[in-house]
Amino acid sequence: MFRQFHFKFTCFCAGITLCILCTFSVLLLFISEKNLVEKHVLSFQYNMGNLVSGLEQRSVISMEYLMQAEQDGGYLLYLWDGDVPFLFNSAPSHKGQEALVKDALACFTRENEGQTTLQGGGYASVHQEMTYQAPDGSVYDLCRATIKTSSYDGSPLTMLLLAPRTGLQEQLHTQRLWFLLLSFGAGILLSAFAWFFTGRLLRPIEQNRVEQIQFVAAASHELRTPLTVIRSCISTRQPGYEAIMEAESVRMGHLIDDLLLLSGMETGKYSIQKVPVEPDTLLLNVYEQSEPLALAKAQILSICLPDAPLAACEADPERLTQVLLILIQNAICYTPEHGRIALSVSQEGKHTCFQVADNGIGIPKEHKTKIFDRFYQVDSSHHHKEHYGLGLCIAKELIALHHGELTVCDTPGGGSTFRVIL
Ligand code: ADP
Repeated sequence: MFRQFHFKFTCFCAGITLCILCTFSVLLLFISEKNLVEKHVLSFQYNMGNLVSGLEQRSVISMEYLMQAEQDGGYLLYLWDGDVPFLFNSAPSHKGQEALVKDALACFTRENEGQTTLQGGGYASVHQEMTYQAPDGSVYDLCRATIKTSSYDGSPLTMLLLAPRTGLQEQLHTQRLWFLLLSFGAGILLSAFAWFFTGRLLRPIEQNRVEQIQFVAAASHELRTPLTVIRSCISTRQPGYEAIMEAESVRMGHLIDDLLLLSGMETGKYSIQKVPVEPDTLLLNVYEQSEPLALAKAQILSICLPDAPLAACEADPERLTQVLLILIQNAICYTPEHGRIALSVSQEGKHTCFQVADNGIGIPKEHKTKIFDRFYQVDSSHHHKEHYGLGLCIAKELIALHHGELTVCDTPGGGSTFRVIL
């Protein structure tokens, strides 16, 4: 399902970026082609101007000159003295071009509303250019000129010049091909990038989804245990079943409270009320609350307070107490009988640091980061009734709300030491 969504999301992102890319490429191509054609037309007009003025200044227009001009520009050149065609018009290079020339002339006349002589006559030569498409589809630059030569005696020369646009067409084709290739390459790169990028974007969401599924499964599992006990009590009705049912429903209540607390913290609905708190007094209260539990397991619960009173710290006393109780109850639970649990508080620079150290079973290195996950238990086979793996997760979230830090390390000589840094 994730792969399918990833694929669809990639297609969507790549599709949109490709559409934008294609639009801009086509626009750019259009502008570039327009510029290229304009430049070409301008250069053709300039060349025609040069050619016309060259012819204008010549007293003798030789075949060699005309052939050279044709060769240099790759033109088809025709000249008439009044209505009499030049001998050059029937040069071998012009063979088979009669129909083309006729059609070009007709086209020129049609385009210029039947003018046989160009506007702007008088004593000046004139030339006019246009684009001409031959019946076979090939495109030419067409120039018609009326030239008054230096030996002008009243009848001007008429010139018709056809220049195939093959060079320009090739240039345009090459440019289009490059654009196509580049767009294709960019499309592939963009799709690969979109796949990689969306994958990275979706990974935390997918991870979150998997975590949510695991969380719901774990919560359901934990809730089913007391429910099964209650059901069996109802069906068997052994003596004392009411007490068992009550204990199990209390357990269920605690679990539901914890789940609600976590979901409240996750959705940001849960907030803490920070007030100045005396850390030593708070720790002393927690110590007094926990002492009977430790005594029940014949453990030594000690407290170490600094001689000088500590500066008040900003915290929610109720939530801070809850965190310390979680840590102490864990220490009591995971420390064997006659073990030692030491509570202390100290000032470290600007920070107030609470510490709960035990000499219990300790936490293996590879589990140290995972124990703060929901429903995570190092040894799930040794399931303690009041422990379902949410304590440290809640403690961590509560400390995070205080902008503090909850860390764990090994106690020298064995056991675990939890530190709350505010
Ligand atoms: P639980 O309710 O199971 O104690 P926690 O979130 O409080 O859940 O703790 C997660 C796990 O971390 C525990 O199952 C236990 O394996 C380990 N743990 C927590 N505190 C200690 C400790 N003081 N000593 C050894 N292991 C601990």
